[in-house]
Amino acid sequence: MYWDDKVKAVKGIGEKTEKLLGKLGIETVGQLVTHFPRDYDSYTGITDIGRIVPGTDVVVEGSIVSRPTIKKHRQLTIVNAVLKDSTGSVLLTWFNMPYMARTIKTGVYYIMRGKVALKQGRLVIEQPVIYSKQEYYSGLNVLLPVYRLTSGVTNNSMRKYIQLALRDTKFEQDYLPAAYCRENSLYRREKAIKHVHFPDSRDDAIKAGKRIAYDEFFLFLLALKCLKGQSDSKECRDSYVDTGICDRLINSLPYSLTNAQLRVWNDMKKDMMSGYIMTRLVQGDVGSGKTVLALLALLFNYDNGYQGSIMAPTEVLALQHYEYFSSVLEEYGVKVGLLTGSTTAANKRKMYARIENGEIDIIVGTHALIQEKVHYRNLGLVITDEQHRFGVNQRIQLSQKGDKCHSVVMSATPIPRTLAMIIYGDMDISVVDEIPAGRPPKKNCVVGTNFRDAAYKLMIQEVNSGNQVYIICPMVEDGDNVNLESVEGYTVKLKSVMPDNIRIAALHGKMPAAKKSEIISLFSKGEIDILVSTTVIEVGINVLSATVIMVENSERFGLAQLHQLRGRVGRGNRQSYCIFMHGDTGKDNIKRLEILNNSNDGFYIASEDLRLRGPGDMFGFRQSGEMSFKYADIYSDADMLMLANERVKGMSVDEVHEFFEQNPQFAFGNFENGENVGL
Ligand code: ADP
Ligand code: MG
Repeated sequence: MYWDDKVKAVKGIGEKTEKLLGKLGIETVGQLVTHFPRDYDSYTGITDIGRIVPGTDVVVEGSIVSRPTIKKHRQLTIVNAVLKDSTGSVLLTWFNMPYMARTIKTGVYYIMRGKVALKQGRLVIEQPVIYSKQEYYSGLNVLLPVYRLTSGVTNNSMRKYIQLALRDTKFEQDYLPAAYCRENSLYRREKAIKHVHFPDSRDDAIKAGKRIAYDEFFLFLLALKCLKGQSDSKECRDSYVDTGICDRLINSLPYSLTNAQLRVWNDMKKDMMSGYIMTRLVQGDVGSGKTVLALLALLFNYDNGYQGSIMAPTEVLALQHYEYFSSVLEEYGVKVGLLTGSTTAANKRKMYARIENGEIDIIVGTHALIQEKVHYRNLGLVITDEQHRFGVNQRIQLSQKGDKCHSVVMSATPIPRTLAMIIYGDMDISVVDEIPAGRPPKKNCVVGTNFRDAAYKLMIQEVNSGNQVYIICPMVEDGDNVNLESVEGYTVKLKSVMPDNIRIAALHGKMPAAKKSEIISLFSKGEIDILVSTTVIEVGINVLSATVIMVENSERFGLAQLHQLRGRVGRGNRQSYCIFMHGDTGKDNIKRLEILNNSNDGFYIASEDLRLRGPGDMFGFRQSGEMSFKYADIYSDADMLMLANERVKGMSVDEVHEFFEQNPQFAFGNFENGENVGL
């Protein structure tokens, strides 16, 4: 079996599974074996029921003492049963899984795993997962890979497919010489791929992961070099002139710009007046006020007779920008248009025509649409917001844009300058290093789940005074890992404990786009009080009356991402609160989270994160979405980024082309699916 074969070649994968895997972008054997784990799981030993404590993840064994009961409470169906061993008994509860009442049989022996909670003075295990003896004992004391899934494919079956594919696939020869790997303590590629899925130990998993990260950076930097090789010198353009229109806008804003905003605006203005093409990265912490800079640049570009566009990584953010830009720019006679995935076909056609004939001056949209069939009459400036959420491929395509018009990319990722220079090697960098004055500092706390009741009290109080709340969970639906809260499960639980007057809704990336927009728009209008969400809300959303954000299982996120999340509150002048709730986790992890307590500064946090994490930490921090590398993490894999950069620097453009010819499996566009943005 070869890398390029369709997944159907793998034993056990039929037509039905092939389709399901297709939804995850897995069509070939190569794509299957590079569907790397997002995390690892390991089962703990069995605990006596008499010794279980609230807040922990336990495996218990015993038999069911009486027939399970089933009852309804509001929209909830609750199944209860009691499991008993020789040391005690515990209540089991399943929400909205009525079939459990039939599955569970009185008198039968079970192994169950779940999280212990204390409810009305009684210990319960909520949503326990049932294991067969064999299943459980085979997973004991090993690191089990946890994969990104789609419904219809369980983690267990994914493990099996990958295991079989790894066993039967013939690997391509490693493109890195053995000597180079030895010198730099890198695994060979085949070993890395095998061991990242099925590591012998934690250390083994880390080493395997490092090599995978190396490959991803290496290929990215090669592709970038290829492109840069084509147009190395700065190209000329007409110089823009300043008529003062932007000063008028600045004076009409309800606030005065910070010094940092003014400085960055001047950088951009100078670029556009210079007679050369601008390619500039604008970096600035969440809430530093980057949107208004985009607005100014677009108005300046318009005033010089050009169309402009701004792309956002999510529809939700595109819509928000559209509303803001059109309201502010109306009095300048600027026509703003919106193009996203949920624009109807007929409206799209109309919009294309209006863009082509120049009726529309500024187009706001998601990336894909702006790239596709849109023909501009005279595009002068392209802005990309939240650049770090776009895929690596898109990042590469973007740098090609520079030869047609001015381009600005905006990012809140506080990457250290040395790394930024590698990844954005072809761009000038400006930093908005100041947060607008007058905002009360956020109140942060890092707490265990025993604080949940107090947190709910705070939320109720805030909602009753007209404010709103975000609760973030790491998962969409309840899955194999009982340690992780899911949006769906959590929403159900929350509704059962919150007063009736509090309006609660769920939001996650698997919902249809229209549903997502509807929920966000209800939340923006204040018609939802508590939004339980995955990190889809991480980027850009600006709801000024949101004052509380609580992140469940915060130990599972990178600090930089938590910092982004906390940027959703405290955007206006109300006091805001960030609650980082952690599950059962080690001291080091809690110490890491506490960095968030000490500072509200994104750059400081990223550098502390990097310092504390060191090269050895990988569990749960990868896939934080930064820069959208599929696997690599620019912070914790910074060493690999540097190493790969050294090697790429030493190659000539001809050698790069040669590399892609000899390794067609890595051909550009093949190694990363950039579409997968925003979860
Ligand atoms: P980000 O940099 O995260 O994209 P935004 O541009 O969305 O931040 O700005 C966050 C909030 O701060 C917005 O509500 C915006 O209107 C406001 N804002 C921007 N600049 C200033 C300023 N100089 N003074 C006060 N508020 C500002
Ligand atoms: Mg923004």
